[in-house]
Amino acid sequence: MSEIKRFEYTDILGWSISRYDKFLNCKRQYFYDYYAKYDKDIPIEKLLFLKSLTSKALETGNIAHDIIRDILTRYKKSTKQINKDKLFKYVFDITKKYCSSKTFFEHYYNGQIIYFDEIYIKVKNILENLLKSQRFAWIEKNAIKQLDKWTIEPDGFGETRINNLKAFCKVDFLFPIEDKVYILDWKTGKADEKKHSKQLLGYAFWASYNFGIKAENIVPIVVYLYPYYTEKNIQISDSKISELACNVEKETKDMYEYLTDIAQNIPKDKKEFSLTSNTFFCKYCNYKEICPGSKANNF
Ligand code: SF4
Repeated sequence: MSEIKRFEYTDILGWSISRYDKFLNCKRQYFYDYYAKYDKDIPIEKLLFLKSLTSKALETGNIAHDIIRDILTRYKKSTKQINKDKLFKYVFDITKKYCSSKTFFEHYYNGQIIYFDEIYIKVKNILENLLKSQRFAWIEKNAIKQLDKWTIEPDGFGETRINNLKAFCKVDFLFPIEDKVYILDWKTGKADEKKHSKQLLGYAFWASYNFGIKAENIVPIVVYLYPYYTEKNIQISDSKISELACNVEKETKDMYEYLTDIAQNIPKDKKEFSLTSNTFFCKYCNYKEICPGSKANNF
């Protein structure tokens, strides 16, 4: 497979599933996340601190993703069977390291004590589900023959172009077997068919754009790892990929509407970024301490 395309840095905003989701859920949260330095009322340090808050669910997913990346990367050096005792000692150490370096939302807002071994047990469970799955055995048997063509969480943010617009699509794991290219995306939370299908279509677009693979030869699979192993194959076609490209164009333009300078990515005034009326988002929002919306919604 050819090299992943690289791009010169520009300030222009780039579409991603998560960015547009945030934009849809609450414009003000989107402003705090992406344009903190333009806030005239709240010190940037405060906004960056709040942005950095993690949660038990987020951190579990983060650790699991990093460990799976490390397991797959290790195959590039050695195809020896995984020593589970060693692996879980490594998982324990990583969990402790990650958890002790972060502030948890549940602790900051609710005073909850965070027990890192509770997170470790869940991560261990997730990894056991993967390692004992038929898919993992199938990868070990078949995909390992072309280890040099594996793409495992490529560096950077997965910058790409969709209809000439900047976009970010970062695949978890891509590998070829015979004439097909498989894209696996690990999920440790609940299934969200619409969102995950769109995300995998983006990855398929990325694979097609970078490696020139035809849609019919790409097999995107969402892998749910908790509470038990299950998979969802995403059907793709040239028409679905074109539809995604149209959506990305429309959604990018929606976000451009909130800028005074598109090339420099300079936002309009904060007051243009409305507060959501959906109390669910406020309840779990990192910025509820400083946001007038949370006060209005009683959080
Ligand atoms: S507290 Fe509510 S209104 Fe304010 S940024 Fe968060 S989600 Fe939006």
